[in-house]
Amino acid sequence: MSTTQPLEETTIQTFSDQIHGEVLQPDDEGYDEARTIWNAMIDKEPAVIARCTGTADVMTAVDFARDLSLRLAVKGGGHNVAGTALCDDGLVIDLSPMDSVRVDPDTQTARVQAGATIGDLDHETQAFGLVTTGGIMSETGIAGLTLGGGLGYLAREYGLAHDNLRSIDVVTADGELVTASAEENPELFWGLRGGAGNFGVVTSFEFELHELGPEILNVRLMYPPDQIPDTLRFYDEFMREAPNEVGCYAAILEGSPEYGLPEELHGVTLLAFRGLYAGDVSEGKEAFRPLREFGDPITDMTQPIPYTDYQQQADDLYCAGHRNYWKSNFYDGISDGFIDTLMEYTESIPSPYSTVFFEWMGGEIAERAEDATAFPHRDKSFAFTVAPKWTDPERDDEHIRWAREFHQSLEPYAADGVYVNYLSGDESERVPEAYGERYERLHALKREWDPDNLFQTNQNIKPAD
Ligand SMILES: Cc1cc2nc3c(=O)[nH]c(=O)nc-3n(C[C@H](O)[C@H](O)[C@H](O)COP(=O)(O)OP(=O)(O)OC[C@H]3O[C@@H](n4cnc5c(N)ncnc54)[C@H](O)[C@@H]3O)c2cc1C
Repeated sequence: MSTTQPLEETTIQTFSDQIHGEVLQPDDEGYDEARTIWNAMIDKEPAVIARCTGTADVMTAVDFARDLSLRLAVKGGGHNVAGTALCDDGLVIDLSPMDSVRVDPDTQTARVQAGATIGDLDHETQAFGLVTTGGIMSETGIAGLTLGGGLGYLAREYGLAHDNLRSIDVVTADGELVTASAEENPELFWGLRGGAGNFGVVTSFEFELHELGPEILNVRLMYPPDQIPDTLRFYDEFMREAPNEVGCYAAILEGSPEYGLPEELHGVTLLAFRGLYAGDVSEGKEAFRPLREFGDPITDMTQPIPYTDYQQQADDLYCAGHRNYWKSNFYDGISDGFIDTLMEYTESIPSPYSTVFFEWMGGEIAERAEDATAFPHRDKSFAFTVAPKWTDPERDDEHIRWAREFHQSLEPYAADGVYVNYLSGDESERVPEAYGERYERLHALKREWDPDNLFQTNQNIKPAD
């Protein structure tokens, strides 16, 4: 479903008159800003961008795309590395103006519009001492993060972001608004949670919230190259025994002044842990003691800080405007072969800010029913992602090759499956891997709700025959 025919001016004008949000075409002011997303490798030119301000705009925009057989893309926070927020020639439904978050402190729930970022959610919920699982930085869109899964530091305590959903409002392919919850359209509710935008345009989410903050224990440790193998082995042991309140990720990165490191460590490959304790700060110090006492870290900047500051710590590191390419897998554990390969490929990291990162799972993610949602990887220990980041287009091949070769060399140590939210733009053949045995059920659901595959600018689940 797509057309490359130029749209008539009167057609655009009629559409523009029908919606409250801005309708942008290539010559309009604001068009380039609206088509700029996190990954600077993505340079797509939609025919029309509809900056929707509410559900009515979204319903009209879905009708417009369907009736004119336009290719359709849906943009939440614009963070997806594959660039699926945009399409060439067609219509982009840009939800970023829809960023309100309304917290009800009595029921400990939040109604979150689909253009909100994690930062928007944290800002509103923390005003009431409440939280829900978000990602590793504040600018990621709630919508894409939640619909694909939602890994985060709090996920071991509260489950994936989408495990905290009570209901979802979604505009389906026929332009109708439908609510999905455990009571209403339960199969759609199941599939939306993991199905990564395949079943409609979500306009808002209802989240359960939990008491935490304002201060939490922020754990930050760094180790020199010679301590990386043993420390990673210990990390594997530590996380398996840790209480669910412990969320702790690891990364291999190049030392730089931004991390407050002395000059002799600039350019040196280092292991970094960043973690939090979802509970009392002194209990957190006790829970993290074994990790902090292991080895001889070059820095230990562990201290209590406000939760909202914690959530913004990585914003500079993962800022927009760089070229990015990711290769990711799930793993059951950190084996010796894995460590040898890791050490080989990270001895020389191709650019400052290129990283590889471990997102340790377990806890509440694994304690939920295995088929609670369409996310099938609850039993995995961690996701591991090779994430080069650079600015010079001339160096694309070099960085992409590093990621691919590194990833391929790690394959023998990987578990099955990949996180749908971490697939790069050239990995659509891995979509079945992202769903495993869930794929057939999702196929059938796609046929029921989107038989013509209107929602296909995503990691696409094809409608079943
Ligand atoms: C710097 C960075 C940090 C990240 N950290 C984490 C992390 O900690 N944990 C984690 O789990 N993931 C993380 N991610 C991955 C992230 O979850 C995905 O990239 C996700 O798709 C981003 O959501 P978005 O709304 O910003 O994306 P967009 O690029 O706007 O959207 C991605 C896709 O989601 C779908 N979509 C978006 N909004 C809607 C909607 N309202 N209705 C229907 N479909 C929609 C569409 O198919 C769209 O193509 C991170 C990504 C980046 C770049």
